[in-house]
Amino acid sequence: MDRYVRHTVMPWFGDNGQATLRGSTVLIVGCGGTGCTCSSFLARAGIGKIRIVDPDVVGMTDLHRQLLFTEKDVDDERPKVEVVAERLNQANSEVALEPVMETYKPENAESLAAGVDLIMDCSDNFETRMLLNEVCTRLSKPWVHGACVGTAGIIIPFPLCRTACYRCIVDHIPKPAAVPTCEGAGILGPLAGAVGCIEAAEGIKVLVNPEGSRQRLIYIDATSGEYETIEVRKRDDCPVCGSGVYEFLEGRRPWGRGPCVG
Ligand SMILES: [Zn+2]
Repeated sequence: MDRYVRHTVMPWFGDNGQATLRGSTVLIVGCGGTGCTCSSFLARAGIGKIRIVDPDVVGMTDLHRQLLFTEKDVDDERPKVEVVAERLNQANSEVALEPVMETYKPENAESLAAGVDLIMDCSDNFETRMLLNEVCTRLSKPWVHGACVGTAGIIIPFPLCRTACYRCIVDHIPKPAAVPTCEGAGILGPLAGAVGCIEAAEGIKVLVNPEGSRQRLIYIDATSGEYETIEVRKRDDCPVCGSGVYEFLEGRRPWGRGPCVG
């Protein structure tokens, strides 16, 4: 029995869809709560090659939401990317996994994105998101943004047919005191998984059925249990997609991984 038959039986997916996934390379930036779930579904879906980037080792406060890690990984102080590659290989040995234990930063941003068909933003700070937006705009690559903090989650697909970029929606990085952080506001464990799941679904659609992939902002409020879909618009004065100014990528902004904000 074909292991992917539950996907290929869907008319919009089919054998061609599976062949597309098998021939695709995906970059995943971040191995946190969203990254663990998102990478699991992409590996199980049979993506041909997954490059996963994260600089951290597994910590005890990660375990309530980062489903690929165990207490032993914490005791052994194992690099997250190493554990993720090992566990995803156990789930699907057909996938080529490339763990990269580095911070995603201006110096390596374009080389890590080279040759990939899709980028999944599972990072936890605005600086990385701004950088990813500039890389994906400059290189014309589709990507999916996901973030969560407290009980709020956001997913935005940026398919090739996108009209707005991330900078059109988020004009500037908020001052640290103006946004809740994971340390201060916490994060509801299952919400991180939900955001990672929806990111993976949007990513699969971007690859298999790009014409069925629609740009909008998906907002999850886990307190009320309400989900909203919000239309996004291109800003005419956007410095990135409007004027081609790549200030994060070109090092014209002081670089530092900001506080964890989902
Ligand atoms: Zn823009």
